[in-house]
Amino acid sequence: MAYFCKDCSYRGKISGQVGECPACGSFNLEKSRVQKKKSPPAKWRLVVLTLLWGYLIALLIWKLSH
Ligand SMILES: [Zn+2]
Repeated sequence: MAYFCKDCSYRGKISGQVGECPACGSFNLEKSRVQKKKSPPAKWRLVVLTLLWGYLIALLIWKLSH
């Protein structure tokens, strides 16, 4: 949880004891949740998985043919 003061544009994780702005004492604080960006599905995982499956299938074919 982070706080943002609309009056003095204070931004921080702490607020005053009664919820006031520690910088200017204003109660015009806005609570804002720190947004965690969801990492997009990694493309390299798909590539690795495909390569792994290809290797496995190639190994299987090699074993069957020898
Ligand atoms: Zn302030």
